[in-house]
Amino acid sequence: MNYRFHGGVHPRENKDRTMDLPLAKAEPPPFVAISFSQHIGKPATPLVKPGERILRGQMIAEQTGYVSAAAHASISGIARGVVQVRHPLGFLVDALKIENDGLDEWDPAVKIERDVDALSPGEIRKIVQGAGIVGMGGATFPSHVKLSPPPEKKIDTLILNGAECEPYLTADDVLMREFPEEILRGAELFKKAIGAGRAIVGLEDNKPRAAAALKAAADRLGSGIEIAQLPVRYPQGAEKQLIYALLGRETPSGGLPMDAGVLVHNVASAYSGYEACAFGYPLTERVVTVTGPGIGKPANLWVRIGAMAGQLLDQCGFDPAATRKLIVGGPMMGLAMRDLEWSVVKGTNGILALDDPAAYCHRACIRCGRCIEGCPAGLLPCILSNYGESDRLAEAEEYNARDCFECGVCAYVCPSKRPIVQWIRMEKAEINRKKQMEVK
Ligand code: SF4
Ligand code: SF4
Repeated sequence: MNYRFHGGVHPRENKDRTMDLPLAKAEPPPFVAISFSQHIGKPATPLVKPGERILRGQMIAEQTGYVSAAAHASISGIARGVVQVRHPLGFLVDALKIENDGLDEWDPAVKIERDVDALSPGEIRKIVQGAGIVGMGGATFPSHVKLSPPPEKKIDTLILNGAECEPYLTADDVLMREFPEEILRGAELFKKAIGAGRAIVGLEDNKPRAAAALKAAADRLGSGIEIAQLPVRYPQGAEKQLIYALLGRETPSGGLPMDAGVLVHNVASAYSGYEACAFGYPLTERVVTVTGPGIGKPANLWVRIGAMAGQLLDQCGFDPAATRKLIVGGPMMGLAMRDLEWSVVKGTNGILALDDPAAYCHRACIRCGRCIEGCPAGLLPCILSNYGESDRLAEAEEYNARDCFECGVCAYVCPSKRPIVQWIRMEKAEINRKKQMEVK
């Protein structure tokens, strides 16, 4: 255990303002706008009509097809119809607006206590599916799909991802410190669902209290789940890098973790899986780190899904004058937002108000090779970005552009401050779009 993956960097961590803070609850939002597209796959289909009384936990949109996820009300109140909000990925999406009645009344149909040890693998997958759980590290892939690998793929190991290698973010750290038993019980359920013999929680060694809490919980539960501390190195939390670091296994180019006999789930998804299996709670809130120089009261908060960014930032002492860039997620892989008219989704792990964004100025490449040395995927980012800039998609594909997982290391190390990852992201989107057109 503890193999060193190729490339990577060690950016300044900047976690100090929130890493010692306990988990707190965000103020109740006056309304929420719950997006029907907060996961990878088809948008969920709305189930409620304007004017209807809604209870917390009630399914407000059902999954559409297999790769999709249901959405549930995160407050009780009155449905005010479908509105458009900006998704953190930048595009406009449909969302159900619910006005808060302040009662926080749960739907009695969803609160059911169960003996989790008696659940079969199929029952676990079904509950996770019904609870709308997705990858909460930011990827938002529906968890029930991940828990259903094809029978020909033999999975021997479940990895829980608690690396949280992005600077600033401490949401997973505080969740692991405060809810280690729930996370490990979730891991046991996921392990059972996929029939794996082994489970490991991987986290960076800048979270010693989380590691200690998990180890103590594993002892209390008599669980055989291993807790592995890894050196701090970005992107330790990327799936392929985490698998290599923990098991020394390479995931093939264009392949998935299951091709290496592994499934990776985020620690927050395991927590939510346990809450759904044991108590019937669907995914209606998550932990979000709100921090950065433009935030007066940094915090790790339980935030209701669908809460508006502006209302959340106001309670954290947001200072627009001290903010040059607002980012959803971490500074390496997160996305800049142009305004506050967007709502928290299941993959929102952090909101950063930064005053020192990298100033990209499109200087010429000086062929220093740093991006190549740093790329954990073993790609040639300088060449790929040139292809993206000049729209040479066939060559980009030949150079495996689709293996880029947009970690941002290349842009971080580039002395010419070239927006390498943005160009590669655009060329990947264009390649995918053309492929989809070919299929149609
Ligand atoms: S963003 Fe893509 S090309 Fe750049 S370092 Fe990461 S994986 Fe490599
Ligand atoms: S790091 Fe920047 S300047 Fe150096 S080779 Fe890569 S793109 Fe060119």
